[in-house]
Amino acid sequence: MWKNASPKTIYLKDYQPPAWLTETVDLEFHLHEHGTRVISRLTLEKNPDYFGEMTELRLDGEDLKAIWLRLNGEELASDAYSIDEQGVTLFRPPAKFVLESEVELSPETNTALEGLYRSSGMFCTQCEAEGFRRITWYQDRPDVMARFKVRLEADKESYPVLLSNGNPLEHGDLPNGRHYAEWEDPIPKPSYLFALVAGDLEFIEDEFITESGKKVQLRIYVEAENIDKCEHAMRSLINSMRWDEEKYGREYDLDVFNIVAVNDFNMGAMENKGLNIFNSKYVLARPDTATDEDYQGIEAVIAHEYFHNWTGNRITCRDWFQLSLKEGFTVYRDQEFSADMGDRGVKRIDDVRLLRAHQFAEDSSPMAHPVRPDSYMEINNFYTVTVYEKGAEVVRMQANLL
Ligand SMILES: [Zn+2]
Repeated sequence: MWKNASPKTIYLKDYQPPAWLTETVDLEFHLHEHGTRVISRLTLEKNPDYFGEMTELRLDGEDLKAIWLRLNGEELASDAYSIDEQGVTLFRPPAKFVLESEVELSPETNTALEGLYRSSGMFCTQCEAEGFRRITWYQDRPDVMARFKVRLEADKESYPVLLSNGNPLEHGDLPNGRHYAEWEDPIPKPSYLFALVAGDLEFIEDEFITESGKKVQLRIYVEAENIDKCEHAMRSLINSMRWDEEKYGREYDLDVFNIVAVNDFNMGAMENKGLNIFNSKYVLARPDTATDEDYQGIEAVIAHEYFHNWTGNRITCRDWFQLSLKEGFTVYRDQEFSADMGDRGVKRIDDVRLLRAHQFAEDSSPMAHPVRPDSYMEINNFYTVTVYEKGAEVVRMQANLL
């Protein structure tokens, strides 16, 4: 069945702030090869900046099998909500309440390239732009920012490593050969930055002392066969962290920074808060197999995703019309970083060549669109050289004017 049989156009001019804000999100993942369960506990409160009529609350949700739904601890009456293929609607919820739910997912058959999926014996997520709605019921939009706490439970032998965003809390063993790990992200974030990874991975480790003297543990997790190809990525990460402090005074804000690089990650790279996930081809290099260009490319991608911690994650988009505000800006920042690491003139010539070869072509084709569109049907179609590279040129122009 085609979900978008009659696609709806979304207009910038129709923007409305959310009627309810989400304060905290507690998630419990029971990861299984078949029938993964997610228990969620959301604390919701009326948005003081919303002036429309508050009658119903719409939560996004796709391919979720509802097990139960409770409001303030009470099972919801069947006339208090309705579930359809794209989410759940609560009729007349109170101004402040706790919503708990349990859903069942099938990550093993998820081929949507969004949400939670299982591939090569690992669980992994991709939530940008609208993948979180495939994990639990949620207002899956970037202007809803909440503090997340996550508990992962899985078989210990198959999934010895259990990762999520933020700082690690406790971990330990459970009956039946299972174990758990808990993570807490103290910084409010939009749902598209949520991530989890569960699998059999090895890691290399280093540390970074920030400007103000805080110690940050750095790890790069990979499949065992790739463990000897991570040094350059780690060096690039440390250089990025130092550069963002020296150039912009931006210090890293968690106790740990984890990168996972796996062969089966279907996006290039993703800046999930404190847990960046990469396709391994953007991380792995060894002098006998990689070229100078590979080395420069890895340095730039590691930097780009790290720089998103401020431009995108801490300072985030109101809605997806602002995609270039995080992407164009962060491309500008990674271009400047590469210019400082290598040769500024050569880097600029490379960037302009790319722009002329790809973005100019897009701009003179039927695919032409503004850096900030006024409408879209599918935001996933806007991850383009115009939004990224032309967006970076607009930021560069503003920087030059300033
Ligand atoms: Zn980016």
